[in-house]
Amino acid sequence: MSEKESVIKNYQNLKEEIGQQAKIMAVSKTISADSIVPLLESGHLLFGENRVMEAEEKWLPLKAKYPQVKLHLIGHLQKNKIKEALSIFDSIDTLDSYALVDKIAEYEPTNKTFMIEINTGSEPQKSGILPEEADDFIRYCINEKKLNVTGLICIPPQDQEPSPHFAFLKMLARRHNLQELSMGMSHDYMLGIGQGATIVRIGTGIFGAR
Ligand SMILES: *Cc1c(COP(=O)(O)O)cnc(C)c1O
Repeated sequence: MSEKESVIKNYQNLKEEIGQQAKIMAVSKTISADSIVPLLESGHLLFGENRVMEAEEKWLPLKAKYPQVKLHLIGHLQKNKIKEALSIFDSIDTLDSYALVDKIAEYEPTNKTFMIEINTGSEPQKSGILPEEADDFIRYCINEKKLNVTGLICIPPQDQEPSPHFAFLKMLARRHNLQELSMGMSHDYMLGIGQGATIVRIGTGIFGAR
């Protein structure tokens, strides 16, 4: 099987398995435009990238050709890249500090959507809002900064059972009436779906090992 064929095969198998249970976000970080095109040609529209510069280089031409694409930023956003990020991405899924949302709000209103990243495991090396600060932060983004927040995202600690983290995220989203739950990656997407994920983020499961 060629690389292109295996990308399509992986994608179709996933779609079959997941069905209507959740949306598949194809995570195309480090993947070349050539390997992304077959997915675009097959009609897939939801993609995630984790770096602003890489996304600009790859997706400016691709979006010109496939204008229906929805591109999400799923990596940490540096404050000096906000303008570029708001121009290439349709959604910033990693709101993770007051300073960041204050700066983003200076560019609003835009037609962009946002998600809030929760550091459910309170890991010091990870970005994201701590669980005990989440309620205040979510309210701040929505009520004070008037951002169009659609949902929450988390990446559980590697050495822990993900399900309790996903369950916490869901409870938090419910409490604030947020629709989208981006949880689950190639190794744990079925657990995410089991806890109510509306979006699963799949990289290696579609494109192969990076
Ligand atoms: C890379 C990445 C993914 C996809 O990871 P895979 O294990 O390759 O599916 C999902 N979410 C985020 C935030 C990522 O950086």
